[in-house]
Amino acid sequence: MPEEWKPILTDHGLRPFRADQILQSLYRDFIADWDAATTLPKDFRETLKREFPLTPYETLDVSKSADGTQKLLIGFDDGNSVETVLIPATGRFTQCISTQVGCAMGCAFCASGAHGVVRSLTADEIVAEYMAGRAHGEITNIVVMGMGEPFANYDETLRALRLINAGRGPNLGARHITLSTCGVVPGIRRLATEGIQFELSVSLHAPNDELRTRLMPVNAKWPIDELLSACADYTAATKRIITFEYTVIRGVNDSRACAEELARQVRRVPMAKVNLIPLSPVEHRPDLGTPDEATMLLFLDVLMKNHVQTMLRRSRGKDANAACGQLRLRHARSASANSSNRSSRTV
Ligand code: SAH
Repeated sequence: MPEEWKPILTDHGLRPFRADQILQSLYRDFIADWDAATTLPKDFRETLKREFPLTPYETLDVSKSADGTQKLLIGFDDGNSVETVLIPATGRFTQCISTQVGCAMGCAFCASGAHGVVRSLTADEIVAEYMAGRAHGEITNIVVMGMGEPFANYDETLRALRLINAGRGPNLGARHITLSTCGVVPGIRRLATEGIQFELSVSLHAPNDELRTRLMPVNAKWPIDELLSACADYTAATKRIITFEYTVIRGVNDSRACAEELARQVRRVPMAKVNLIPLSPVEHRPDLGTPDEATMLLFLDVLMKNHVQTMLRRSRGKDANAACGQLRLRHARSASANSSNRSSRTV
């Protein structure tokens, strides 16, 4: 963080204004090596190289979808990699970032969790993902909806987002940063105490415990009642809205009865909104299908008639395997295809 640099500078007999030069080099000039931070004294650059080595990362692959969505594969120096997706829209350039390699949550419909979690990313690695994204354009919004469960990696994720938000750093507004959780209740409660205006999304996907536990094992630990009370407390404490994500799966959670029950549930949370997203098919669960347009519209209609503010979302990036929940399997395949590249990396 910007203020963390000041004591380090003083310790090396340098003036605190140098902190701005450091941040400028890191986040505006995209330096890949401290040697490139030419505004800093040369011997201090040597100290930085020794004591604060930059997190090495490499963009191993870029795949572009016909709708303009780009998926980047970012490799780290232990050979692990994650995917980040860039989504252009009118007046916006949104980056979807990952917080873990894989995911431990095991949601039935999500490819990221199909092989469990390998490890969590450090804050620096999450910031590196953002920097790799910025090389492709000015990012206006971040959604933490890539691989991993952000609240299973709470400290590093929050540190990274605060760095990206920092005024002297990239300065991306907190309200332009959305965290999405599968329902890790302690994380929601903790976020309410942070005093920062990040947006919060909660992946609900089912209106009752029986169905939700089947789709999302996390529900056995924090069932719907507990989750919705944490959400209601969050909106009361922060005065901020919560968006519930509801992935509609054909014949599973797409009935009129489900929509009615969902409306009853979300109305327990003041200032709640619902985003409906048709399932993106995933290879490991061919039995789970995408609902047709008519089903989506009927579901939307029931929610609206029950006074729930609802948006219908389209999944983007399908032909680059960059759509919601598709990030892991393709990654696992490309990881082996890329292993030869990795050994020749220089950073
Ligand atoms: N772990 C976090 C963030 C990552 S997933 C969370 O669960 O919220 C981001 C969103 O994509 C979540 O709402 C998730 O449920 C959804 N998702 C996962 N797989 C999907 C799929 N195959 N189709 C549509 N949405 C999916």
